[in-house]
Amino acid sequence: SSILSSILPAPEDPVLSLIFGFRDDPSPVKLNLGAGAYRTEEGKPLVLDVVRRAEQHLANDLSKNKEYPPFSGLPDFNILSAKLILGDDSLALKEKRVVTVQCLSGTGSLRVGAEFLAKHNQQLTVFLPIPTWENHLSIFTMAGLSVNHFRYYDPKSRGLDFKGLLEDLGSAPSGAIVVLQACGHNPTGVDPTLEQWEHIRQIVRSKGLLPFFDSAYQGFASGSLDLDAQAVRMFVADGGECLIAQSYSKNLGLYGERIGALNIVCESENVARIVESQVILVVRPMYLCPPIHGASIVTTILKDSDMYKDWTIELKGMADRIISMRQQLYEAIKARGTPGDWSHIVKHIGMFTFTGLNEEQVRFIAKEYHIYMTYDGRISMASLSSNTVPQLADAIHAAVT
Ligand code: PMP
Repeated sequence: SSILSSILPAPEDPVLSLIFGFRDDPSPVKLNLGAGAYRTEEGKPLVLDVVRRAEQHLANDLSKNKEYPPFSGLPDFNILSAKLILGDDSLALKEKRVVTVQCLSGTGSLRVGAEFLAKHNQQLTVFLPIPTWENHLSIFTMAGLSVNHFRYYDPKSRGLDFKGLLEDLGSAPSGAIVVLQACGHNPTGVDPTLEQWEHIRQIVRSKGLLPFFDSAYQGFASGSLDLDAQAVRMFVADGGECLIAQSYSKNLGLYGERIGALNIVCESENVARIVESQVILVVRPMYLCPPIHGASIVTTILKDSDMYKDWTIELKGMADRIISMRQQLYEAIKARGTPGDWSHIVKHIGMFTFTGLNEEQVRFIAKEYHIYMTYDGRISMASLSSNTVPQLADAIHAAVT
């Protein structure tokens, strides 16, 4: 048989089966809480006003051309992105210890970082939280790293398994990579407190582990770009090494533009120069250089103080709507006298919440209430609206009683 005809089909993706279930449901009230993208109160995708303005500005700027950017992306984009995550007055930036490479959003940044690390150390193990964004496992495995796990979520408290986390990182081998989500943990909605982050930092540093932050939701969780960067900045402030994958998918709503950056914080400028030369060798044979449109949008907004300010307002609007959905859902469940403690819905942060519903209950809700979520009981708060909260509260009530 031929090379192509002997290929076996990929295993069924549970997320896809959910999407197909939603697509094939004829109910007019069907609701998809599985997708990880912001929706308005009307259930529509949102293009930020400031993004439209930046695009108009770019379209009118005749000095712009479509030449190839450098392999590492648009220089202004990289500097402004590093400042956004590390802070304007970051010592690491002043000391020129940070390498920033424009990548294909968060996923591309994680993959380039993983390929770079794997290429220079075949023995590396990466520790992922249980649970984590499902693509982490494939990204690091495909890069050739061995994957291990550390405890993160405690189903009993529906919060952080802090003791388990510290125990597992405490017994990780020195030199291992630890993937930490900077804020708005996907899929659980559970973030460590600042005090807990400080403990995590101490154990990561004392064990000689290499933190790899996934910052997919900066500003989108709390509504403040600075607050959501606190954990990352805490690690960078101690002078140690770390990697940060940055995404503009959520906070600027640029999902399909595939725009983000990989930041590698090194111990010296000298190391940073060497690292940069090697990261480019990862990028070049894969896609030569990154696309310029998304990077130009981001640069236009970050450079202009008016647009930047407008962005922070729109961003806070999205975060606040999500926080208000948490409150409304919690109140609606309480009003129905649903058994159990549902306060985790308001304690969680970011786009997602682990409801605590099991697979059987998730299937029941899809069948009887036409509401679709992933089988682990994760819902996207950003896909809810004041109109659909009662439907979900009814469904949850029926599923648990
Ligand atoms: N990391 C996490 C934790 C995510 O939830 C996502 C998006 N679902 C990503 C990374 C990647 O998104 P993107 O590649 O669009 O930045």
